[in-house]
Amino acid sequence: MIFMASYEKNVAQLKTYKEQQAQENRELKERMGKIKHKIAVISGKGGVGKSTVTVNLATAFAQQGKQVGILDADIHGPSVPKLLGLAGKQVKASPVGAFPIQGPLGLKVMSIDFFINEASPTIWRGPLKMRAIKQFLTEVVWAELDYLFIDLPPGTGDEPLSVAQLLPEMDGVVIVTMPTQLSSSIVKKAVLFAEQLKMPTIGVVENMSGFICPYCGKKTEIFGSGGGEKMAKEVGVPFLGSIPIDPEVGLDTDKGIPFILSNKESAATKAFMGVVTKVQEFISKK
Ligand code: ADP
Repeated sequence: MIFMASYEKNVAQLKTYKEQQAQENRELKERMGKIKHKIAVISGKGGVGKSTVTVNLATAFAQQGKQVGILDADIHGPSVPKLLGLAGKQVKASPVGAFPIQGPLGLKVMSIDFFINEASPTIWRGPLKMRAIKQFLTEVVWAELDYLFIDLPPGTGDEPLSVAQLLPEMDGVVIVTMPTQLSSSIVKKAVLFAEQLKMPTIGVVENMSGFICPYCGKKTEIFGSGGGEKMAKEVGVPFLGSIPIDPEVGLDTDKGIPFILSNKESAATKAFMGVVTKVQEFISKK
C-alpha cells in the first residue's frame, strides 16, 4: 500500500511537471513570436571580440531605426552590460515578467549581471544554466522586436545547445574568430557544431585582423590575417569581413560605448559596417 501511495504521488508530480513545461512552452512561443529575427553570435574561444561584435551589430541595426534586443546568454562571464555602460543596473520584476534594461538607441538588454549584486564568480551547473536561459526567453518582457541578438559564451557547451533547442526558428549564427591558426581551427568546430544543431551559419567575422597605424596608415599583421577567410572557405560558409585592431575600440569598450557610435570614421567602423550589410543581405533573402 505504501508503495502504491508513493507511486500515485510520483504520477501526480510528473503530471504537474508536464503541465508546467507545457505552460512554459506556450509562453516561450508567445514571447518569441513577437520577435521577427533572432541571431546568435558565437566563437570558438574567449577574448576574440564576440561580445564587442554582438553589441555593435545590435547598435548598427538600432541606428537604422529597428527595435533591437540583446540577450547576454553568457552566464559565467556576462560582459554585454559593461560594453554598453549598464553594469550595476538591476532588473525590476513585475507580475508580467522582468523588464529589460534600456541601453543606447533604445536597445533592450538582458543579462544575468542585472540580477547579481556582488562581483564573485557564480557556479552554475548545466541544468541551472538551461533554466536561466529559458527564463530569459519566456519571462522577460521583450515585447515587439525586429531583432534579438544572443551573445553566447565561447565554445560549444550547454548554452548554445539550450538556445538551439528553445529557438528552432533561429535565423542564423555569426561566428567570430581571430586570424591565428589556433583560433581558426577552434572556430571550425563551432561551425560544425552550429550545423549539427541545425542553426544556419550567416558567416564568419575575423576580428583583430591587423593593426592600422593611426599616424601613417600602414597595416601591421600582429596576429596575421586571412585565417578566418581561409577557414570559412574550407568549411564552405560565407566570410563576412575583417575588422582591424583599433586601440580606440578597447578604450570605447571600457567607457561602455559601442565603437561604431563613437568612432564613425575609423577603419574598424568602416569594416564593421560591411559586416552589417552582409548580415542584412542574409536576413533579407530569408
Ligand atoms: P569575447 O566576447 O570574445 O570574450 P570581447 O568582445 O569581450 O571578447 O573583447 C575582448 C577585448 O578585446 C575587449 O577589451 C575589447 O574591447 C577588445 N577588442 C575587441 N575587438 C577589438 C578590436 N577590433 N580592436 C581592439 N580591441 C578590440
